[in-house]
This record gives sequence, structure tokens and C-alpha cells, in this order.
Amino acid sequence: MQISYLVAGGGPVGLWASFKILSTQPNARIILFEHRDTFRPQTLIPPFQVIADLPLEVRDQMYNEKARKSLLEPQPAQLILPSPNYRQTPWFCTGAFQEFMSKHLQKEFVGRFFTVKAKIEGCAGPTSQGGCHISAAIQAAAQEHPVALGSLEASEVTAMICTAGGASGFKYRTAPASEEAAGRAYTPQGDGVYLTFRHEEHESYVRNNHDMDGALFDKHGIHYLASNNRYNNAQIYTYPKSPLGPSTALTKIFEEMPDTFRERARFGGTPISLTGDGLYGEDAEWFAKYREALLRELDILQVPLPDHSAVSVFYAQRSEWYWAEAVAEAAICDREGNIFSSMPVFFLGDSAGCTDYWKGQSGGRGLIAASNLAEILAANPEDTGTARAQFSAYWHEIVDSEFNKPAEINLEPAIIFKYKIQGREVLDDDGKVVKFGPGDFEKYQAMVDAISENIGTAEHKPEE
Ligand SMILES: Cc1cc2nc3c(=O)[nH]c(=O)nc-3n(C[C@H](O)[C@H](O)[C@H](O)COP(=O)(O)OP(=O)(O)OC[C@H]3O[C@@H](n4cnc5c(N)ncnc54)[C@H](O)[C@@H]3O)c2cc1C
Repeated sequence: MQISYLVAGGGPVGLWASFKILSTQPNARIILFEHRDTFRPQTLIPPFQVIADLPLEVRDQMYNEKARKSLLEPQPAQLILPSPNYRQTPWFCTGAFQEFMSKHLQKEFVGRFFTVKAKIEGCAGPTSQGGCHISAAIQAAAQEHPVALGSLEASEVTAMICTAGGASGFKYRTAPASEEAAGRAYTPQGDGVYLTFRHEEHESYVRNNHDMDGALFDKHGIHYLASNNRYNNAQIYTYPKSPLGPSTALTKIFEEMPDTFRERARFGGTPISLTGDGLYGEDAEWFAKYREALLRELDILQVPLPDHSAVSVFYAQRSEWYWAEAVAEAAICDREGNIFSSMPVFFLGDSAGCTDYWKGQSGGRGLIAASNLAEILAANPEDTGTARAQFSAYWHEIVDSEFNKPAEINLEPAIIFKYKIQGREVLDDDGKVVKFGPGDFEKYQAMVDAISENIGTAEHKPEE
């Protein structure tokens, strides 16, 4: 029996979920809806277990040979444990990942993977869960792929996987009052000013031929990421507070940021360059002070920038937000709001919840959840009730262990293991390869204990 899933959103999580489902269910097909085609220069830190699982073609496009060596080949345990440093961190550019993964899926899964350039619209349906104008989405799919999907009916769709949420503004359902009362509604956590640029010299893992100390960067109010795919994207993220160090001239400047600057620099609008051209009045004054403080810190940290006119600056508010329940039985409505069907909807990635910059694993959490959902669906292909119950239990555990936590959550061994270690191979003292698979947390702890005398101060830090 053919199984059809609709995926809302072609961000990193929607594409990863598609890949995992198509790889684990030979009779599944995916119809993915994405309405934007902007290239996203943003860079993030994916979990190592996802990098270890990348299709080879995509892996080779994301990482050059030198990076693959330091990233994917087994390294001495002392270098990696308890937590790998910047040198072994598999940063990637979100836009490049989306581009390579999407092309790979279209090539590898002909007749099973369809992208539709359309927006899935939510509607406040007459049930408490809200609904979805699925008929419009199916129509759009049929128009774009008339031969394969021309006769697709809503009743043939097994489930919808919603990754269209979070910052993108798609509200599939509005927060019930009880969730808001429990503090689960959108909670702003602070301002962030991001610089994105391309730089041939910025190689991800041995940048500018000197090691970078992530904790030191954070003490300066700066987070630096680069990716060495063919776009050479780099990102500098500045923020107003750091649990790792005292306020600096740079972090203090955030207190004076004019609201008009927030509006002007919001991501998605006309980009501002680091020259500040096009800013006026108090925005221009504030930005000049910000730039001066930033350049001073970057000078200390030895991070060179390209021509300032080639550096884009934008503003984004960070927040913590999550649904207590990441599965819903959704009413399927027509344009008039009449229900004619229902289906399970699984929420993944930022549409299920994201944490602020200090807790730093939002993208990674979504990617891992996508792998887990694919496994659950593959084990229960015709039993969405069991799949719902299992995914729901999985998400409850994440909510309990990863949300509403202090920033130091990223120092917890279980979190380090999940996001940075699982999937890695290291060389023990005898040069033997030791692999850390899914159930190997205790093995990891034992190895950390065994080598702890030799590792000095580990550069543990929250990252996002
Ligand atoms: C500057 C910055 C740095 C970050 N660094 C890190 C990091 O280091 N590590 C980390 O883990 N996370 C990081 N994050 C968070 C990470 O980027 C997000 O968690 C991640 O992008 C979420 O992926 P997603 O696929 O769930 O959602 P998104 O990336 O938001 O993708 C959703 C997609 O859905 C599409 N869409 C929206 N509405 C609709 C609709 N109605 N119909 C069809 N399509 C729709 C959107 O166009 C978008 O492409 C960072 C975020 C920022 C802003």
C-alpha cells in the first residue's frame, strides 16, 4: 500500500524528515510544501548524529576534504571528550543544506518526493485543534505534478508533518489559554544582532590557521560560526548577555538599541550592511557605536572581516516557545471551514518548540526528532494511533528535559552526548576505534572519567 505524507515547510527539519522517511519506508511518498526560495545564509550547529547519517553526496558537498578529515575520521578520545571543540564542530549553512538536500531527494527518490511551491494555510476550524485548508494544498500539488498527483485525494494522505512554524509565523493553531498560563507561550529572551558574510579565508575547522576558543568568544559577547561548503558562509552573532563573563562594551550597547533599529534591521527586510549606509538619526548613531565596539572585540579575537559593504547585518529576537503536545488530530476543512476529513499532524522543529540562544539546540532538536519520527512511522506504517502515542511520549520527555531550564543545560553530560557525541568514533589509548552509538551514554561517561585527568579544562559552552 502506498503511504503519502504531506510535509509543511522545506527548512532543514522538513527536508531531513523527508529523507529519513523515504529511506526507511520504501512505499512512502512525500509531498513537501515550501513557499519561499530565498537562500538562507544563517549558519548553525547540527548534532553529530545527523552529520554521521548524511547521504554521502550531501556530506561531500557540505564539507571539503580537509574538514571531513578532522570531522568524520576518528580522532584521539582526548581531543573529543568530554565535548569536542570548535575544530570538530560540524557547523553548516542552513541554505546550503537545504539546497543540497533538496536536490539529492529529487534525484534519489524520483516518483516518491515532490516539492510544491505553495503555502499551506491554517484555519481556525470548528474543532479545538483548528484545521487546515488541505484542499487548497492538494489542488496546488495536483497542478504542479499533474501526472503523479493529479488524482490525489485528501483521504489518501496518511499524516501531515508540520515544520512550518516558529519564527516563520505560520500558526497552525493558536495557543490555548492553559498553555499560555503555564508559561509555554512565546517568551522573548533577548535581542540578537547577526552579521553574515562570505569569506574565502574562513575555513570551518582550523580558521585562519589558529584555533578558536568558543568560551572566550562568548565572554566577549560574540558567537562565531563558519561553514566550508562552496559558499563559505560565516556568521557572527552578538547578544546582550553572557552567563560566561561580565558585560563588555559590546554587550552593554544592546540596552540602548532604538526600537526603530529593531524594526529597520529585522530579517526579511532590506538588508543593512556593516557600513551602516541608509541608517539615519539615532539608528545611525547607535549603529556606529555598536560597530566600533564590535570591531574592537573582533580585533582582540583575531577575526578578520571582508569589505564592510559585503557584510549583512540583521536583527532577530530570540525566544523560548514550545507546545506541550506535538501531535494533533487535525480537522481538514475546505475553504468554507466545513470539515470533511481528519488526519494526524506531527509537529517537528521550530513548529513544535525552540529554545533561546543560550540553550542553543533548537535546529538540532528538530533534526533528531525528525529521525525519531521516521523510525516510529516505519515501525507502525498502518497504525497511526500507535505512532501518535509513541511520538507524543518522545516529545513529553524532551519537554521535561530540555525546556524551562537554565542556560547551563548544555553542560549536562546527557545533552553533550546527545548533540555532540552520539554517532562519533574516537581512538582510545591503544589506537582502537570506539564508536558511540545511540545506547552508549554510559560508555561515554566511563571514557570521560578514565581520561579526565588528562583533559585539562574542557571548553564546554552553550552554543547557538
Ligand atoms: C542566527 C541563528 C542562529 C542559529 N543557530 C543555531 C545553532 O547553532 N544550532 C541550532 O540547533 N539551532 C540554531 N538556530 C535555530 C535554527 O535555525 C532553527 O531551529 C531551525 O532553522 C529550525 O528549522 P525548521 O526546519 O524547524 O524551521 P525553519 O527553518 O523555520 O523552516 C520552516 C520552513 O517552513 C516554511 N514555511 C513557513 N510557513 C509555511 C507555510 N504556511 N507553508 C509552507 N511552508 C511554510 C518556511 O519558509 C521555512 O523554509 C539558529 C537560529 C538563528 C536565527
